Amino acid sequence: MKLGIVGLPNVGKSTLFNSLTKAGALAANYPFATIDPNVGVVTVPDDRLDKLAALYNSAKITPAVIEFVDIAGLVKGASKGEGLGNQFLANIREVDAIVHVVRCFEDSNIVHVDGSIDPVRDIETINLELIFADLEVLERRLAKQKRGAYNNKDLAREVEFIERLIKHLEDGNLAASFELEGEEEEAFIKEYNLLTAKPVIFAANVAEDDLGNDGAGNANVAKVKEYAAANNSEVFVICAQIEQEISELDDDEKKEFLDDLGLESSGLDKLIAASYKLLGLISYLTAGETETRAWTITKGTKAPGAAGKIHSDFERGFIKAEVVYYQDLLDCGSYNAAKEKGLVRMEGKEYVVKDGDVILFRFNV
Ligand code: GDP
Repeated sequence: MKLGIVGLPNVGKSTLFNSLTKAGALAANYPFATIDPNVGVVTVPDDRLDKLAALYNSAKITPAVIEFVDIAGLVKGASKGEGLGNQFLANIREVDAIVHVVRCFEDSNIVHVDGSIDPVRDIETINLELIFADLEVLERRLAKQKRGAYNNKDLAREVEFIERLIKHLEDGNLAASFELEGEEEEAFIKEYNLLTAKPVIFAANVAEDDLGNDGAGNANVAKVKEYAAANNSEVFVICAQIEQEISELDDDEKKEFLDDLGLESSGLDKLIAASYKLLGLISYLTAGETETRAWTITKGTKAPGAAGKIHSDFERGFIKAEVVYYQDLLDCGSYNAAKEKGLVRMEGKEYVVKDGDVILFRFNV
């Protein structure tokens, strides 16, 4: 899963990104963590892994990961090639969802590109660039499909669809709020990979003093929340500066620091959890002496598809899955004890994998 961090200049994107990558670099031994300075690999916190690894005496724990991409260079006019312009837009097309950082902190030392703190105006500035970029994609597609549409009913339907969608965007709306009718329209829009169709989480970047009570003391946060509620998006309140400080601490220090601030978990942990939820993701687990590991799948994935995350051979040669729920396994104290109690189930191709399933796949090679 890949998340793109966007926002106007000077809102705290790099600060957030740096704290994410620093936290990630400490946590994981991922070889691809350093290939690209704009990509950070972050592990998904999961208490279950430690407990499971203790049960199996595993040599290694491998958590699930999320990739964050720092998409700098989005400024007014980006869709017309200002700033990094089109390169930025190409990067953002690859992501599964967007984390949109908005500035809610006041600090006269840090210039706002538009002169004042107004997060909803900022959101709309960015959205407009994304809308322009999408319109360009749609206009091109429209021109292409129109050529064949006079003697092809399928293309004619698509042309009519694109025209409606263009109208929707021209009115200042996002593709995400376009009402789709039927599977065909869903397939069309999926194919265009529009920027404004991607799910968004807003990160309201506040001053340290406003962190408590989920930013309730900050009027700008309230406005972002109102905006997000109207647009089916989530907001989470963060202080990027504090996150950067936290990311430099080890686990014990981190806990103490959070306790002092009266917080349960760091903003990054919340962001990761919110992203998982937003994208409808869950984790299943595998455990053994060599490794205990979490694997990310979309809710609703069946057993062979889940097996395919490990290796395509597992999916192709899938026979069955031996499944025990994590908590049952822990309560029983061992796999064999769980088996004796009948808590290990044999599941077939149609089984829908659940969050926290501990699975052993049987397959033909
Ligand atoms: P970007 O341009 O969006 O990547 O913004 P940066 O992360 O570079 O931040 C711009 C400036 O704002 C830097 O000087 C940061 O130290 C500062 N900054 C970032 N987050 C906060 C925050 O939560 N509070 C305050 N006061 N300053 C911040």
